[in-house]
Amino acid sequence: MREKLQAFFATLDRSRFIDNQYKALSKLDRPLPIGCGQTISQPSLVVYMTEALKLDEAHRVLEIGTGSGYQSAFLAAFSHELYTVEVIPALSERAQEKLSQLGYTNIHYRIGDGSDGWPEHAPFDRIMVTAAPKKLPITLIQQLAVGGIMVLPVGHAGWQELKRITKTGDGTYAEEKLLDVAFVEMVGKYSL
Ligand code: SAH
Repeated sequence: MREKLQAFFATLDRSRFIDNQYKALSKLDRPLPIGCGQTISQPSLVVYMTEALKLDEAHRVLEIGTGSGYQSAFLAAFSHELYTVEVIPALSERAQEKLSQLGYTNIHYRIGDGSDGWPEHAPFDRIMVTAAPKKLPITLIQQLAVGGIMVLPVGHAGWQELKRITKTGDGTYAEEKLLDVAFVEMVGKYSL
C-alpha cells in the first residue's frame, strides 16, 4: 500500500489545491494556509494517515474536515465511496470544484458540522478526521462498522495525539497512539 500511495502522491499536484500566495510552496512537506484560518495538511502526514486507515477499494469512507480536498483525493482514490463533511461552505465549494475537475465521481459532499458524522449513510468502514476534537467523538465511533477503523487527532489546540481506533464490537473499541501531531481544532460539541 505504501508504494501505491507514494505513486499516487507523486502524480497528484498539490498546488492545484492551493489558491493563494502559498501555491509556490506546495512542494514543501508542511501544512500551508488555505484561507478561512484553515490549512492544507502536510503531505507526508496525509500519506501516513491514509496508510494507517488500511483502506481497500470496497470501503465506504467518512471524512470530517474536507478543507482543500487534498486528503479527500487520496481517500476517494483508494476506496469505493467517500462521504466528506466540511463546516466552512467556501472551502467545501472550492474542494468540490477541484475534485470534480480531477474527475472524481465517488465523492459525496455535505456542508455542516461533522461532529455527528453523517448518520443517513452510516455505518462506515473507515473514518478519517482531519480537525482535532478535544476528546474522542463517541458519535463517530457509533457510526463505524464493527471491524472498522478511524484515524484522528485528539487533544488541545497546537498539540494532539494521532490515534487509531478499531471497533471491536457494539460499544467496544481498541485504541492505539500513532504520533504526536498539530491539527486545527474541530469545532462543535467535541471542542469543549
Ligand atoms: N485534510 C484537509 C485539512 C483540512 S484542515 C486538507 O488536506 O486540506 C481541517 C478542516 O476541518 C478545516 O477545513 C475545518 O474547517 C474543518 N472542520 C473543523 N471542524 C469541523 C467540524 N466540526 N465539521 C466539519 N469540518 C470541520
